[in-house]
Amino acid sequence: MVKEQTLLIPLHRDGGFETREREQQGYHGKKTEALSSCSFSWEKLKEMKDNKIEFWAADGLNKLRIFEIDELEKSVYMVNQLGKRTWPFKFYKLEELHEKFHNGEITLLSHEIDKLAPTWGNYVAGLLKYLGCDKV
Ligand SMILES: [Zn+2]
Repeated sequence: MVKEQTLLIPLHRDGGFETREREQQGYHGKKTEALSSCSFSWEKLKEMKDNKIEFWAADGLNKLRIFEIDELEKSVYMVNQLGKRTWPFKFYKLEELHEKFHNGEITLLSHEIDKLAPTWGNYVAGLLKYLGCDKV
């Protein structure tokens, strides 16, 4: 653990006590606020598919894009730059991971997400980063 002393040193000239504030936000549930300031939503995913928006997986090696959305199953399919397609990923699962992240239960590290959604960590982390979840 980092000592209290260290945490009080501003990280950046304009950043104030960024890290510390974020940690507190995560654990003391300013959930609604956090959720309303990132752009995560089912509508947003559809928009990304329609506009062929590309984003990087967390490893920075795979450039991804949502290529199909199944409205009935409410799931998304992604494809990487080599044309390799994923299995469908259920939106409710994504929502669950998203909520856990904003509640401070998990971080956006692939191996952590992998524990809850095996093999998806890299992709989900990349997607949530693209949506600005780590910036709120
Ligand atoms: Zn978010």
